[in-house]
Amino acid sequence: MSRRNLITVVFTLAGVALLVAALGRFFFPTNYQPPTALAADSTVEQESDENKSGSPRDVLIAADKARRAPALAKGEWTNSEPLALADLRGRVVLIEFWTYGCYNCTNTLPSVKSWDERYRERGLTIIGVHTPESEREKILGNVRRQVRSLGIRYAVVADNDFETWRAYGVKAWPTIVILDKQGRVRWTHVGEGHYTETENVIQQLLAEEAKERAAVESKAGRELNGGAGVVTTSAATESGQRRERTNIIEGKIMKSEAEWRAALTPEQFHVLREKGTERAFSGAYWDHHEQGVYRCAACDLALFNSETKYESGTGWPSFWTPVVKENVATETDSSYFMRRTEALCGRCGSHLGHVFNDGPRPTGLRYCINSVSLKFDSQPQNSPQS
Ligand code: FE
Repeated sequence: MSRRNLITVVFTLAGVALLVAALGRFFFPTNYQPPTALAADSTVEQESDENKSGSPRDVLIAADKARRAPALAKGEWTNSEPLALADLRGRVVLIEFWTYGCYNCTNTLPSVKSWDERYRERGLTIIGVHTPESEREKILGNVRRQVRSLGIRYAVVADNDFETWRAYGVKAWPTIVILDKQGRVRWTHVGEGHYTETENVIQQLLAEEAKERAAVESKAGRELNGGAGVVTTSAATESGQRRERTNIIEGKIMKSEAEWRAALTPEQFHVLREKGTERAFSGAYWDHHEQGVYRCAACDLALFNSETKYESGTGWPSFWTPVVKENVATETDSSYFMRRTEALCGRCGSHLGHVFNDGPRPTGLRYCINSVSLKFDSQPQNSPQS
């Protein structure tokens, strides 16, 4: 090859390299790095500068060292009205960055769904932030179909612009971030695996929440006993401001629709808050015979004792009297062209079922209750009335 030809080849190769680099910057802007899906034994990549100021991985960060979680970017929500982290203070929040085409996410899904089922009522909210890997995964109809067919019941928000992804410094699917009840990032895990450790973190943060809630409710109770007509509980934020959480008005619990949606499963929300009815013979308690107390699934108030439960043959759990009269309120219900008496939780106002006059002695009443509205407590501590 002549010297001239050699120079021509070198310049041609250099030109091609420059062109590839320019195209690369066009398709992958500087603030976007192509993510990867990580399996359990994958080597976690080194943290970028953006993430060095963030949270260490697989370490439960002390509350006073944890940073406040960035807000969630706007996006289309499935399974829920739009949720804001500020409205979820008081709950532990698990955010999973995932995409439906990622097999590592599919492998993680059974654990995430199981945590949702077991801990939702105890104060856990799971939010799936769907960050697409391919063009088809950006199509909202595809996301909704996949959420349905995968049996995902927790809230999912589409993060097509990767805004939330970048705000949390995420680099790979799946990434799980857990926030404590004050909205601080306490745990981050990348890839599959670490399920036991992650569940332990959920339990620890829920326990922290339970301690704080007990303190708040104890304070509210003292104020009520002191004769205050209206009590508003509030939780202190790090900035020193006080933010309203749950209102307890003369012993009643009042929450916004968004808060109830976050606290309950879709089925519970439909029955308890939208006065729905479960199908006969389909619930957990119509044929349930253990000794214990049935509590409100929304607020935990004791409603019925197993000793007053009887076989009504209706396919819904039936009782002839509540634990105490005040714990179950009644109202006239004129829906569906019928005049019936509705049974509601005396503390949170959630719909339980109906009361009929064809029950056994001594009351002659039949409290016909949806199983979904109840949760069974086989070992009621202290007074079964509360
Ligand atoms: Fe209740």
